[in-house]
Amino acid sequence: MPAINTPTSSAANYLPDNFTLCNPLTFTEIEKSFTDLEEVEIEQVLPELQQTEEPDRHVTGRRFFDIEDFVEHCYTNAKKFSVIYNLLEMNEGSIYINPHSNVQNIFEDILNSEEQEYPIYICDVNDLIAKFKLWKKVFPRIEPYYAVKCNNHPIVIQVLATLGVNFDCASKFEIEQIISLKVDPSRIIFAHICKSASHIKYASENNVKLMTFDCEEELFKIKNNFPEAETILRIKYDDSNAESNFGIKFGCDPYTEAEELLKISFRENLKVVGVSFHIGFLSKNPSLFYKTIQAAYHVFQIAAKLGHKFYLLDIGGGVLGTDDNLAALYAEYINKGLNDYFSDDSIRIISEPGTFFVQSAFTLACCVQLVKKKVTKNVQTDKSIYYNYYINDGVHGDFAVIMYHDIKYIPRPIKNTNETLFLSTIWGPTCDVADKVCDQVLLPKMDIGDWLLFNNTGNYTQVLSSKFNGFGSKKIYNIINYENMLLLRTKWPSNYCNFIIKQSEEII
Ligand SMILES: *Cc1c(COP(=O)(O)O)cnc(C)c1O
Repeated sequence: MPAINTPTSSAANYLPDNFTLCNPLTFTEIEKSFTDLEEVEIEQVLPELQQTEEPDRHVTGRRFFDIEDFVEHCYTNAKKFSVIYNLLEMNEGSIYINPHSNVQNIFEDILNSEEQEYPIYICDVNDLIAKFKLWKKVFPRIEPYYAVKCNNHPIVIQVLATLGVNFDCASKFEIEQIISLKVDPSRIIFAHICKSASHIKYASENNVKLMTFDCEEELFKIKNNFPEAETILRIKYDDSNAESNFGIKFGCDPYTEAEELLKISFRENLKVVGVSFHIGFLSKNPSLFYKTIQAAYHVFQIAAKLGHKFYLLDIGGGVLGTDDNLAALYAEYINKGLNDYFSDDSIRIISEPGTFFVQSAFTLACCVQLVKKKVTKNVQTDKSIYYNYYINDGVHGDFAVIMYHDIKYIPRPIKNTNETLFLSTIWGPTCDVADKVCDQVLLPKMDIGDWLLFNNTGNYTQVLSSKFNGFGSKKIYNIINYENMLLLRTKWPSNYCNFIIKQSEEII
């Protein structure tokens, strides 16, 4: 059974049981270890650092070195840190422990350290953990199954798995990624209404039992390939107001189609255990949740009459993840729907949030590679200047979602400036004229080599990025603060990535 069921005040209580335990350090112990370091001969503690840098702790600039050595000095049980001396060696499999947690400063740090060629992400693990805590607070009854398609960056998956979040996978590949982390298959839902037979067999071999369907053909496909599966009937929102267009591709009609499917599955002895829906990607209308929960209740009534034993309601994704107040707004509709129609505690309520968890955890920095000044005649003012900027990421890269959905990203210059603002257009790097990231935004005058930050770039960005025209490479830096590192470390499995500590000047 998944570990998350009852809410309590401490996130640590949701951690799953099946992870290796290692002795956690407390925050004060970490601080103390830095003080201890002062007293230990630096030659002894950091022999390799000796070879590369002057052993002068007051040298300015960044100094990065591993704490494995001194942790071993102070705490013989703590072995999980790897050796790294330089920020430049950071890779996607490491989490950089940073006491400051200010994304802008960390970007400045990175950009000062070396000439950077590719767009750079910071993945703020603190933000992921904050989202997890927020989820527990506003949706105490709902078990999250993170939608892997939204962002399958290994750190995101590892952190969420460690926190006890379960997973929504849509393909064999996604299931493989989760199973490879030793996540129990009972923590996975195969939430796609169109699965190939081989993927269903793979789910069967790996004991991933929960899966969705919305039509008779898929029902038989599941029955033929995995007769013991526990299926969930996906319904669509009754779309009379065209508020969500997801229903044209996914879900059966709860009022006109569900009953027939439930009859067939009962006759065919295929277990149906509940109802699912997904109000849609980037939906801005939380009230859809209430109405669809009501429709799900209708299907539960039919199922009970037919003899099905339903125990699960899956309310899908669709909760935005930009700010906390928004989550509270969704919670009003969702929790009211659950209170009105699913007050029976024996029914498990699950959800498939993707965007909610990752949207604000990522910030993307892109570099200006070309600046073109344009002067146009204008009716109001007789002269107006605007700028065209060409940056190193675009709609064939991490901004792909702009092409398909109504979404806008707002650029923020990394350098502080109070200068005059100009209308600006931001173009992506490829030879495609449609490769435009922002149209008519206000920016101070930027130069070649300046960087722009884009917030809220965690959802549907990297996963959609292509290598069109030979672009698409990027770097990702993962950061965490001490307290959160310690929280994770208590349950962090040994096959996961390493935490890396930055020796900051303030602490020395
Ligand atoms: C994409 C998807 C999700 C995640 O949606 P978000 O809006 O990113 O939360 C959840 N469930 C299903 C079935 C999906 O297709």
